[in-house]
Amino acid sequence: MNGGYKKEGSYGKGAGRGGDRGSERGDRGGNDMDRGGGRGFGRRKVCRYCADKNLKVDYKNAADLKYFVTERGKIVPRRISGNCARHQREVATAIKRGRNLALLPYTVMQHQ
Ligand SMILES: [Zn+2]
Repeated sequence: MNGGYKKEGSYGKGAGRGGDRGSERGDRGGNDMDRGGGRGFGRRKVCRYCADKNLKVDYKNAADLKYFVTERGKIVPRRISGNCARHQREVATAIKRGRNLALLPYTVMQHQ
């Protein structure tokens, strides 16, 4: 949600699977990521962990991780969370770790 669209590719290493090297796209505004399918949830242009170098996936930071868990306690899929493959994996790992520490729910109890 923090408006700045950082130029991708400037941090070089680790971008292996992203596929976006930012070579020739600079002057187009680069909004071809949000075509269609918007559900009004998690519309980020780029993985928030990639966008913010200071932000780290931390299993102790339940407040952040909750962002990637549905209200039923399931992990939000990547196409909705907007994470890149690498960070989605880290988030998933952190969530599982957080579950072990009872920071996050496995499933949410439902009244029936
Ligand atoms: Zn990322």
